[in-house]
Amino acid sequence: MSINAYGAHAGDKPLEPMTITRRATGAHDVRIEIAYCGICHSDLHQARAEWAGTQFPCVPGHEIVGRVAQVGAHVQGFAVGDLVGVGCIVDSCKHCQDCDEGLENYCDGMVGTYNFPTPDAPGWTLGGYSQAIVVHERYVLRIRHAPEQLAAVAPLLCAGITTYSPLRHWQAGPGKKVGIVGIGGLGHMGIKLAHAMGAHVVAFTTSESKRDAALALGADEVVVSRNEDEMRAHGKSFDLILNTVAAPHDLDALLVLLKRDGSMALVGAPATAHPSPNVFNLIMKRRTLAGSMIGGIAETQEMLDFCAEHNLVADIELVSAHDINASYERMLKGDVKYRFVIDNSTLGA
Ligand code: NAP
Ligand code: ZN
Repeated sequence: MSINAYGAHAGDKPLEPMTITRRATGAHDVRIEIAYCGICHSDLHQARAEWAGTQFPCVPGHEIVGRVAQVGAHVQGFAVGDLVGVGCIVDSCKHCQDCDEGLENYCDGMVGTYNFPTPDAPGWTLGGYSQAIVVHERYVLRIRHAPEQLAAVAPLLCAGITTYSPLRHWQAGPGKKVGIVGIGGLGHMGIKLAHAMGAHVVAFTTSESKRDAALALGADEVVVSRNEDEMRAHGKSFDLILNTVAAPHDLDALLVLLKRDGSMALVGAPATAHPSPNVFNLIMKRRTLAGSMIGGIAETQEMLDFCAEHNLVADIELVSAHDINASYERMLKGDVKYRFVIDNSTLGA
């Protein structure tokens, strides 16, 4: 079935309207009419071919929410009309150790929501800047927020889980001092989630203008990272630093803020490498420099339920499909509070 979408035909071309097809709803599939889709910085990296291997046409979007329109004969967990979400994963091998442990995000056969090989036309996955998507029920999430919160729930499907998973893994909670670096889509969710988990939260920003906003999001303290005195005041004090910055930067300035046995988890995925950190900043205090990628399906459901229970959603700016290119430019300037979300009903306009 042919539907409207928005995507790029080349890395140096703006996104534009296009039509795509979705497979027929299989026995284990759920067909979702997409109501909203968040704009993640990864969408920009991929659509502009900043990361290697972009297939064109590229339809980004992996913060998908909507209602079930059709279910396959063997689908038991979902019914037509249910509020659901799809994040960054639409398939995996389903039988490796990672899949068995609910960590499909680390399965070597993971199929991302866009730009991953699939038997469906055109041969790679096409994401949520589109009117509908067909996904195996294993990768569909249930949304328990109120329907009127739906647009602001969308960013939880990537920004939410990508920050929730490392915060849980490194045990953010009462008695822990947690830094969140970069107050964008991921970072603002990191602040909200770490605060809800009970940690002492310090936000790091390059933008003086975000100081008050970070406190309003739930940060206990804010550091403007260009200010060396403010940075020095937090030396050797953090249990965990979650780094969401989308561009190469000096990791040493942050590593020295970790206490003994502290960890910095990188989730930002810049197109070019960070300058190499000084190994002595790791050795001297047995510090860990780590990475983390999104989260598994069960953990994503856990995160959505945690957010519903704590009444957490993203702070969003709703945009029409025709604003996507302008939104990319504003995201690059850090000019978004804190996630653009596309109203997918405008794809038909
Ligand atoms: P975003 O909304 O653009 O936020 C990134 C923030 O980083 C900015 O708002 C800015 O915050 C800070 N920053 C500082 N210097 C920057 C610079 N030169 N360029 C860009 N940002 C700069 O992006 P996002 O959607 O949160 O994504 C952040 C990164 O995480 C991207 O690289 C994305 O691809 C990656 N990502 C990774 C995963 C994963 O699984 N690991 C999942 C999703 C996204 P301040 O103004 O506060 O300094
Ligand atoms: Zn994302």
